[in-house]
Amino acid sequence: MKEAPVLAIVVPCYKEESVLHETHKRLSQLLDRLITEERISSKSYILYVNDGSTDHTWKIIKEFYKNTSYACGLNLAGNVGHQNALMAGLNTVKERCDAAISIDADLQDDVNVIPEMIERYMEGNDIVYGVRRERKTDTFFKRTTALAFYRLMKTMGAKSVYNHADYRLVSAKVLKEFANFKEVNLFLRGMIPLVGFKSTSVYYKRNERIAGKSHYPLSKMIALAFDGITSLSIKPIRMITSFGFIVALVSFIFIIVSIIQKFVGTTVTGWTSTIAVICFVSGVQLICMGVLGEYIGKIYMEVKHRPRYIISERTEDLKEK
Ligand code: UDP
Ligand code: MG
Repeated sequence: MKEAPVLAIVVPCYKEESVLHETHKRLSQLLDRLITEERISSKSYILYVNDGSTDHTWKIIKEFYKNTSYACGLNLAGNVGHQNALMAGLNTVKERCDAAISIDADLQDDVNVIPEMIERYMEGNDIVYGVRRERKTDTFFKRTTALAFYRLMKTMGAKSVYNHADYRLVSAKVLKEFANFKEVNLFLRGMIPLVGFKSTSVYYKRNERIAGKSHYPLSKMIALAFDGITSLSIKPIRMITSFGFIVALVSFIFIIVSIIQKFVGTTVTGWTSTIAVICFVSGVQLICMGVLGEYIGKIYMEVKHRPRYIISERTEDLKEK
């Protein structure tokens, strides 16, 4: 029997002052229970990552650190987005835990499957995906756009676990390997499966946000989908090539038709079609250049090897406790 693991729960927080108290209460209760039942080590903890919030989020995290057990925090110098904030947290805990669970601050993901995740981990799985069984509480709009998101990702060749967001358990072993993925553009739910190791899923019902509002409007979801696709797959480039072939074939047929027309003697007409073809082809070229540009832009970002985030403070550094 393996020894009870040190569990780190990583919570990215952006302007979450309205939910944090409740979140911390529920997570601490859960940790308490798991520690008493000796299913996790008493050294287990929760790490809150403040993603450059402009409200009182960091102040609340500091209070948790001072007044309660289990809590510590990271304050990022600016808003770097959910994926980068999560990465900052996971990188921080990788040397100080046996397994880490990432969960959103709004507790939309059911904390009650955490014991099951730990069980799966104890059975020898290095990655345990939290998968939503249903999303009845999400608005119709959110549900349909989210479904479209997964479909689009799949057809574009970016593999990810269906209905799994960023609620998962990963072992320290996976985290250490994952640190070798040096890319700047992060799409964690698509990249974690690339590490390999034994994995499984647990299923849960997604709840409504306990308070506050979503920071993932449609524009951010589209940006995430686009990022996911261009980070994980080169299928769009292949699609351009196939599209190019089709356009070339159509043009070829068109040329043959115009040659026949010339011999039959109806050449004066054709100005309209010429202009149409020129416009169409230049349109297609522009689209193609846009997509190519996207990849070149990514290469540009990657070669810079910029840090993905900068930590400005740690609760551990606050001496007075
Ligand atoms: N989040 C973050 N940085 C951001 C936006 C969001 O760290 O720039 C965090 C947020 O605090 C929450 C999680 O990412 O813990 C998911 O965000 P949200 O609940 O707003 O998204 P939704 O669940 O609606 O997709
Ligand atoms: Mg949420």
